[in-house]
Amino acid sequence: MKVNAKRNSVFSKPFPLKRRLFLRCLFAVTLTFASCSDIQGGGAPARPLFESLRPRAEPFREEFALNTVCTVMLFDQARPEVYNAIFNRIREIESRMSAFLPDSDISRVNAAAGKAPVEVHDDVFKVIQRALEIAKLSGGAFDPSVGPLVSLWGITGDTPRVPSREEIDAVLPLVNWRDIELDPARRTVFLRQSGMALDLGAIAKGYAADEAVAIVRQARLRRALIDLGGNVITFGRKRDRTPWRVGLQTPHGSRGEFMGVISGWDMTVVTSGIYERFFEYDGVRHHHLFSPFNGLPARTGLLSATIITEVSMDADALSTAIFVLGYERGRALVDSLEGVEAIFIFEDRSVRKTAGANFALTDSSFRLLTD
Ligand code: ADP
Ligand code: MG
Repeated sequence: MKVNAKRNSVFSKPFPLKRRLFLRCLFAVTLTFASCSDIQGGGAPARPLFESLRPRAEPFREEFALNTVCTVMLFDQARPEVYNAIFNRIREIESRMSAFLPDSDISRVNAAAGKAPVEVHDDVFKVIQRALEIAKLSGGAFDPSVGPLVSLWGITGDTPRVPSREEIDAVLPLVNWRDIELDPARRTVFLRQSGMALDLGAIAKGYAADEAVAIVRQARLRRALIDLGGNVITFGRKRDRTPWRVGLQTPHGSRGEFMGVISGWDMTVVTSGIYERFFEYDGVRHHHLFSPFNGLPARTGLLSATIITEVSMDADALSTAIFVLGYERGRALVDSLEGVEAIFIFEDRSVRKTAGANFALTDSSFRLLTD
């Protein structure tokens, strides 16, 4: 088996994966900053733009959490206690929602699948509640009970493999958001079938990003940039009052290379792309965004799907949902939601966006199509 060895190389923090597999964990989007006067699009910089555009003088803090690199910039009003509060909160959310930590609420719910309801923390309950709403909205394309499929493919572990059709068919009945039972009065979660497993990998980072911004707000800071492994939130106004500019990662490009720029004020930008985590087997690439309908990595002609909206939890789940749905149905879903915009990048390097997406192409090897 050939395993792709390109991965996030800028950050030297230890990657919690065995050496046999190097998952490529790119930032889906690249932030550009207040003091960056111009954006050089297109090329593959020797040093990723994320790093080279970062104003050295601006304080920021970066830590590995939620299985990804988390960057927080508090700019001129940076105070150590606010950074501490944010990263403590991120770690707290991880400790409750990670399917990898045996003591997390999610692991306890999974262990009790088919047996008994499990009381969970309010954070976890809220996220599962929203996950179920988005599962319903997306007709099950986003499904938080995707756990057995993720385990079968081993995509987030150190031994990914291509399972047989029989193996996939055996776990598919376990992937069904309708079998997740919530009791708001008792704050319990029950997985009706034994063998079911929750995986909040497509929504937890968004929730954590929202919670980080809540702390920034409480601390009465005027501006902040939060980037939890590509779940980006811009908060407040830049000092020069110009809009924030968020670079959209070039699919399969070098890390930090971007093909366009999204501008706006308070917004969250979240991308789901096939280039973030994948492995190769017999020359075929298998990525980490699964179709709950056929149990395979979703193939819809898309390289990535980006959501721009206000709530990062929604953006996170919706970006996964519309990627799995593909352009036609994903676009219809986005068009039905107020305040939600999207950008779709196709395998043939064409790009489509919703009318309200404030997106400018900077790489002429892509083509922006209009409706
Ligand atoms: P990333 O985590 O790379 O930012 P996503 O937010 O799209 O990307 O989440 C992908 C993760 O979500 C996968 O690693 C897997 O754990 C889980 N997942 C995969 N397919 C689905 C799906 N159809 N619905 C819900 N979660 C999914
Ligand atoms: Mg997501």
